[in-house]
Amino acid sequence: MPIVRSVDSVHIEYTIPSDIKILITDDFLNEFLYQLIRIAGISPYDFADEGIEYVTGTCSWYAAFGKACIDTDNKKLFDYRNSLEWYDSDIFDSEIIGVLIEKEFILGYKIDIIKRELDVEFEDVDVCDKCGMLMRTDILIKNGEGYICPYCKDVDDGDKYENGTSDYYREICREVDEYRGNNNER
Ligand SMILES: [Zn+2]
Repeated sequence: MPIVRSVDSVHIEYTIPSDIKILITDDFLNEFLYQLIRIAGISPYDFADEGIEYVTGTCSWYAAFGKACIDTDNKKLFDYRNSLEWYDSDIFDSEIIGVLIEKEFILGYKIDIIKRELDVEFEDVDVCDKCGMLMRTDILIKNGEGYICPYCKDVDDGDKYENGTSDYYREICREVDEYRGNNNER
């Protein structure tokens, strides 16, 4: 497929042609997803970036794709994907993921779902360097170049029992107990 060269950049332009796209039917997608679940062990209820994304371009992806083509009598689609150069087949696979998400066969990308459900923008979230959790940056604490979440920071700052619970947590338990006691004395 065409590699577009301009003066200062080289980029690859590819999209699934329409005569191939029509071969990607709901029947095919359903079968492909079943094979991915069975062969690659993914779940349709994982975020796309934590599930299906991990298996694109792998042997299990190839096997699941091939089996879905066999079962839905789709040799043309199978041959087409095999005719692509690796850089185009990568895009082809990503587009199939896009269709699976769009047609609600699988969950979408975490950041898109956060945006849709919680109205939090991509720019306003980042990950804690220690636990990898996504969080709003106004909750995260600057930690060198990156961020640390308040939970990890508290555990780092004090974990008397070294079991992953913070001294802050124990302090709050005491505070809440006290609060409860005061309430009872009313
Ligand atoms: Zn953390």
